[in-house]
Amino acid sequence: MQTIRSITKMPKVSRQLAARGKTIALVPTMGYLHEGHAALIKRAKKSADVVIVSIFVNPKQFGPKEDYKKYPRDEKKDMARIKKAGGDIVFIPKAIDIYPDNFQTYVTVEKLSKTLEGKSRPQHFRGVTTVVAKLFNITRPDVAVFGAKDFQQAIVLKQMTKDLGYPIKFVIAPTVREKDGLAMSSRNRYFTAEQRHQACCLYYALGTAREMVKSGIKDVRALKSEMRAVIKATSPKAKIDYIAFTEFDSLKPVSKASKSTICSLAVRLHNVRLIDNMRF
Ligand code: AMP
Repeated sequence: MQTIRSITKMPKVSRQLAARGKTIALVPTMGYLHEGHAALIKRAKKSADVVIVSIFVNPKQFGPKEDYKKYPRDEKKDMARIKKAGGDIVFIPKAIDIYPDNFQTYVTVEKLSKTLEGKSRPQHFRGVTTVVAKLFNITRPDVAVFGAKDFQQAIVLKQMTKDLGYPIKFVIAPTVREKDGLAMSSRNRYFTAEQRHQACCLYYALGTAREMVKSGIKDVRALKSEMRAVIKATSPKAKIDYIAFTEFDSLKPVSKASKSTICSLAVRLHNVRLIDNMRF
């Protein structure tokens, strides 16, 4: 496995690989990798000859009050996990190279960035699309793999890929969960054991909605009301940011759940903001 830190070496290596007829898949991450990331790497390995995993804690996607400085980092463990999952190249650029002095060019997906997460985190997607566009330019992948866990991010990036005409196959891989249903996340490490259990409230609420839809209850108001009750019962201190039922691709709100609906929610728990989603 090769580690590349230089933003000038990386495109050279990609060009050489392409010249040798090798296809490249990119898995962008912010590091502190878990089994969810490993699943993306394994999925990437199936769709290309060479898998590049980028590790970059992107300052531009964190709000001023968010956890950029304390976001967990462990490069050594990450390397071992990437190697085990089948990654070939780890790309670890420096913030000063990605955002040199006087940086002022951003990529914005206008509409899809404004709803759901965008309401609570106004500059978040602008930071995500800008860094991923730069990563695409530097690593030149044929395939890019993202997780359904951050489904709005995936939808926003898919739109950017199409709008900017990147010749990149866009893959969205399923959410990997802990045994008790909690979606794996680098931020789960902030919790104590008791808080960690309460964090399952998102999954329980989504599961309840799924069962209700299965039994024929499709009215979104009824579904949301039951989900709120489940969250309160599991985690009385949880603050619900939003529960939304939207069309999967357009993110437009719906009043009746159907096969093309995705339910997503954000909950603040002990100062950690958790997101999760489910399709029915
Ligand atoms: P992050 O390091 O949190 O920026 O995530 C990097 C990529 O991993 C994104 O495409 C995420 O959607 C994906 N990811 C994070 N957690 C999970 C998970 N539990 N299951 C699947 N993919 C995930």
